[in-house]
Amino acid sequence: MILRCATSNPGKLREFRLAAGEQSHGLFDVETLADLRSIAAPEETGSTFEENAIQKAVYYGARTSDWLFVDDSGLEVDALGGAPGVHSARYAGPEATDPANNALVLERLAGAVDRSARFVCVIALARAGQLVRTFRGVVDGRIVDAPRGPNGFGYDPLFYYEPFGCTFGEAPAAEKMKVSHRARALREMFDWLAAEVGRG
Ligand code: IMP
Repeated sequence: MILRCATSNPGKLREFRLAAGEQSHGLFDVETLADLRSIAAPEETGSTFEENAIQKAVYYGARTSDWLFVDDSGLEVDALGGAPGVHSARYAGPEATDPANNALVLERLAGAVDRSARFVCVIALARAGQLVRTFRGVVDGRIVDAPRGPNGFGYDPLFYYEPFGCTFGEAPAAEKMKVSHRARALREMFDWLAAEVGRG
């Protein structure tokens, strides 16, 4: 069954496909919404991952009759009061790059003893523009002093995951996808959908 997603983030899309291959019992193929590039992105005005995910799912979901999901996700750093949070993609400014966002987190954390952080992912699932439900995944870690590793995207090079003994930027993609916030939210969604589709 085709599951549409609406993301222009190549890092997220890679992980959706990896997860569909490994976690969806072979039931789902993830495809981006046709013509995604020609659809103006909706404003993300929510103050929580849930609000933003739901806004996007309803907006993009109305443009297909297939099931469609969106991911709203980000990094919460305790010593920064939960920032960058819902502003993760544009922490260093509207056109911010991943390295610029990472540099700003490190600058604001300079000298901080508490470096605990978590990645959060909320997936909202819609059908024909109606929200069906949301799924949330979280993974705990801490922020290192300088970026490490070429893998992943976004804040992965800063995110040290104790059980791996390295950052997500150093971990192979398939390892990250066993434990990440996105993997956890996607696994819940795939399991829920598999049961739902099974019921007919
Ligand atoms: P969104 O597109 O508004 O959900 O923004 C998500 C942003 O959060 C991304 O652009 C990254 O900066 C960050 N982010 C979310 N998930 C991850 C991840 O798995 N690794 C690293 N950064 C992430």
